[in-house]
Amino acid sequence: METAPAVPQRKCVVCHQLRPRSELLRLAAPVRGGHIVPNPQGNTGGKGYYVCREGGCVAKLRTDRKMRKVFSCRIDDETYNWLSQQVTAPNISESPNQLRATAKVPSELATQKL
Ligand SMILES: [Zn+2]
Repeated sequence: METAPAVPQRKCVVCHQLRPRSELLRLAAPVRGGHIVPNPQGNTGGKGYYVCREGGCVAKLRTDRKMRKVFSCRIDDETYNWLSQQVTAPNISESPNQLRATAKVPSELATQKL
């Protein structure tokens, strides 16, 4: 008998590595169009995407233009902002209040576009 617990694994859209879900950040494409949005709870409809919580993949997602083809719609600055926050502070809880707070300050991101 296998005694190791079955950890659900998901594939990062950037590096295509399978990782435990806890090591990945979840995004979702809204059902009715619009932008890719953070979806840490996995509780909205639409297609889900996963990105490694470790810094490299989020950075690449943001800077590599090829990555845009991976998604069915574009990612806006608010979502990139959220991703960056999760990377730099991985233990922070994913509370809705925090999402709202970060969404209001996209100015710093606007200067980092390629
Ligand atoms: Zn990755």
